[in-house]
Amino acid sequence: MTNLQQAFSPDSFRQNAHNLVDLLADYLESAQNQTLESVIPYQEPDDSLAFWQADYEQGVGNIEDFFKKTIEKSTHLHHPRYMGHQVTPPLPITAIASMLSGLLNNGMAVYEMGLVSNPLERILSELLAKKIGYDNNASGILTSGGTLANLTALLAARAAKTDVWEEGNAGRRPTEKLAVMVSEEAHYCIDRAARIIGMGSEGIIKIPTNEKRQIRTDLLEKYYNESTEKGFRVICIVGSACSTSTGSYDNLEEIATFAQKHDLWFHADGAHGGAVIFSEKYKHKVAGLDQADSVIIDWHKMLMTPALATALIFKRDEDAFKTFQQKAQYLWSNQESKDWFNSGKRTFECTKLMMSVKIYSILKAHGEQIFTDNVEYLHDLAEKFAILVKARPNFELAIEPESNIVCFRLKPSNINLNEINSAIRKQLLQEGKFYIVQTTLKENIYLRVSLMNPLTTETDLNALLDEIERIGNQISRE
Ligand SMILES: *Cc1c(COP(=O)(O)O)cnc(C)c1O
Repeated sequence: MTNLQQAFSPDSFRQNAHNLVDLLADYLESAQNQTLESVIPYQEPDDSLAFWQADYEQGVGNIEDFFKKTIEKSTHLHHPRYMGHQVTPPLPITAIASMLSGLLNNGMAVYEMGLVSNPLERILSELLAKKIGYDNNASGILTSGGTLANLTALLAARAAKTDVWEEGNAGRRPTEKLAVMVSEEAHYCIDRAARIIGMGSEGIIKIPTNEKRQIRTDLLEKYYNESTEKGFRVICIVGSACSTSTGSYDNLEEIATFAQKHDLWFHADGAHGGAVIFSEKYKHKVAGLDQADSVIIDWHKMLMTPALATALIFKRDEDAFKTFQQKAQYLWSNQESKDWFNSGKRTFECTKLMMSVKIYSILKAHGEQIFTDNVEYLHDLAEKFAILVKARPNFELAIEPESNIVCFRLKPSNINLNEINSAIRKQLLQEGKFYIVQTTLKENIYLRVSLMNPLTTETDLNALLDEIERIGNQISRE
């Protein structure tokens, strides 16, 4: 056997895969029953680099050993005390499906390279469109992450409202500077996307937020008029559902009314909170979503799919095709036709992961109800956590949580609150028994949890607060 033949050997694949599944099942078990102590085995970047350089120096070696080290040295999202960033602990079935899509590797851009994944993508887009409340005119795509989906949506907005895609910036009237309106709390990728499409920093009109950190819709007219007077042409307004740092849902109905009045594209960034469309109990938080021209929802946040997998849904199918209208002769024989099955016509990506296979495996194995269960459990848990925080006199909530994100801080007297809270977060990271993050709200540092793991319980949350108090006392005494 040649080296290559050996590398493709079904027998060694079978053996390695079985071994890996055993390792992963052991990881799941020890994370869930918390015999695995470390949620995050934190190492300084240079130490981690040195470790892997030494490993690399050893050359070809035992693959199982590499898998083991990777599990051991990664952040453990399946540990119930993982409460850090907004990335989901993926359902085990999706990890198996990832192996399936990894090996089949059908690249999606053209129908022949996505015989299964293109139809599945359409079915999943229609499922979301229906949940959003769109009619049969809607359609959608999957793309690699919320950041790229938001950029794609802004490009769609520009394609719908201007000729820049064909004419380039030079073709535009020089006085016509394009602009987008967005909450000051919006995810940074909106700002980035607007700059990428040439709006510059001035073309990003940041609207202040209220005490609940929602966009102040009472100020929309004022900001719109001011920028129009300055020579800007506003083409789009973005609503956050919900915001990243505090989990606040903007008032989408009022944004929709404003957008209609001024003929703006209304994009809803539901990367995180759009998932509430699966819950009768919580979907009222995104009332007005059906009036958006485009919506994004990350499957890899509250919908338990491995990263990256983001849905971008358009209210009107034709908008999806305008975004990247272009000739690529060798790919598509008919450039003009709006064929849903050639996914590359509507995505930034050419070759693309078979994301739909992972998502669809959840529906096949568990049914849609699992999304409802997860969204509701996580939102309910955040409410419980807020009650626990408020019950402790030396803690303070930043705001009442609207989502599964909670910002809070320890508030001992006679000590700088920013210093102590960031010192606490640092020590938590070094101990590694909990993983939480921090955020700055109007110059105040808050501890922040995203409750992403449906196996997290009130016991874990109380243990976290105990630990924060213990560290806080220790620091105060020093
Ligand atoms: C997470 C998030 C994004 C970015 O999505 P990625 O999938 O991480 O690229 C954008 N907007 C909001 C509101 C988010 O929460």
